[in-house]
Amino acid sequence: MQSEKQPASQSNVTKLAIEPRIFPRAEHIISRANISDNALKVLYRLKNAGYKAYVVGGGVRDLLLGREPKDFDVVTDARPEQVRELFRNCRLIGRRFLLAHVRFGREIVEVSTFRAPHEAEPNGDGRVVGGRIVRDNVYGGLDDDVWRRDFTVNALYYNIADFTVVDYVGGVADIKAGQLRLIGDPARRYAEDPVRMLRAIRFAVQLGFTIHPDTSAPIYELGYLLTEIPPSRLSDEVMKLFLNGFALQTFEQLRHYSLFGHLFPQTEGCLSEEEGRFPHMFLVHALKNTDARVAENKSVTPAFLFASLLWDPLRRLASEYRANGLNEFESIQLASDTVISRQVRRMAIPRIVTKITREIWALQLRFERSSGMRPLRLIRHPCLRAAYDFLLLRAEAGEGVGAPAKWWTAFLEADEAERGALLEELPGGRRERSRRRRRKVITDQ
Ligand code: ATP
Ligand code: MG
Repeated sequence: MQSEKQPASQSNVTKLAIEPRIFPRAEHIISRANISDNALKVLYRLKNAGYKAYVVGGGVRDLLLGREPKDFDVVTDARPEQVRELFRNCRLIGRRFLLAHVRFGREIVEVSTFRAPHEAEPNGDGRVVGGRIVRDNVYGGLDDDVWRRDFTVNALYYNIADFTVVDYVGGVADIKAGQLRLIGDPARRYAEDPVRMLRAIRFAVQLGFTIHPDTSAPIYELGYLLTEIPPSRLSDEVMKLFLNGFALQTFEQLRHYSLFGHLFPQTEGCLSEEEGRFPHMFLVHALKNTDARVAENKSVTPAFLFASLLWDPLRRLASEYRANGLNEFESIQLASDTVISRQVRRMAIPRIVTKITREIWALQLRFERSSGMRPLRLIRHPCLRAAYDFLLLRAEAGEGVGAPAKWWTAFLEADEAERGALLEELPGGRRERSRRRRRKVITDQ
């Protein structure tokens, strides 16, 4: 079977004559009824204009697995400018790849033109620098395009002209076997684009697939390549890894393959000298909670995720600052600055996100040190809910904040009269009340 010979990363300046396996409509389960109307519109308009048009990538993979695809990527022999001519609602985007985005309200159908692997045309508009792809705009046919894709299961093409599935790489067999396999020589494909290591983990976890031993073996040694990924791309991938509903398993796999430390070196530092039940317990709780929220269709925010992933480094650094004489609030503040600035060297985190992360951390101390009437002001804080959820997770993880967590739960659920009584329990509660009473007497006079 062709899948045994995968020429992508061999020297393939001369194209290898490999015949694809074609699965006719009767031999697969993909039905047009499961493809979005907008994607169908794009496919048919391309076809009717005389171009080839296929669904490729995750859309085909997920449909063959009987899952609902996240979106549909279309690939064609029309050049991006030709695609733009066919669709008014179309924008060309991308530098490394020039792609067309066809927009229908909130749905975007991404249309890319068949590309040849960068080696195929050394003088074309494709460039590899230091083993890495920096430009990839050499056009070709389907039989070129297939070899530059990452995993066999992502390299299947559904042809709108005859409803067949085109398989050059044994992707259908791998889908049946539940196996993730890189096309070509794995070490070389990772060197070309180290993000593929993260994608391997993401897809394996998300699909419940095993990673073929040849595909997984190099990962243990190549994690260091991740440090060369541009920070903005890395943070996009990290969001996909941790906000897809499988954060806990993903975290465990990333650690298993020694990749996690390249993404979150400060956290890895804490994990490797684990003390007592922390810090792992907290992170496990937080990631489980994130997964549960995704399962319930509740929002999960990057700020909360970063607050969780970086909580242990933050705690540790803040306690060092405390030991050096700073007060509790100053320690948290300064530690927040330091931990975040170290992390953003690795991956881009928008300022709006880091601002909320800091607030979540700062509010922990304010919850623990609640006194007087301050909780009344705190309940209007825009980050209160997130910070309170964070406090609950800390309590569950055994961080010794059971009492404030209980108090705040009661306080947030209470009506006004009950709140008054709860405030009295706090340090300074009564004193504050009598001070207010005195002030009132003065103003009434
Ligand atoms: P998802 O369900 O997450 O969208 P996907 O497989 O569709 O999964 P995309 O990132 O949308 O992933 O990419 C679409 C397709 O483009 C992939 O299926 C794969 O064929 C190709 N691709 C994406 N990223 C890479 C990469 N880094 N290297 C090689 N091929 C890639
Ligand atoms: Mg996709």
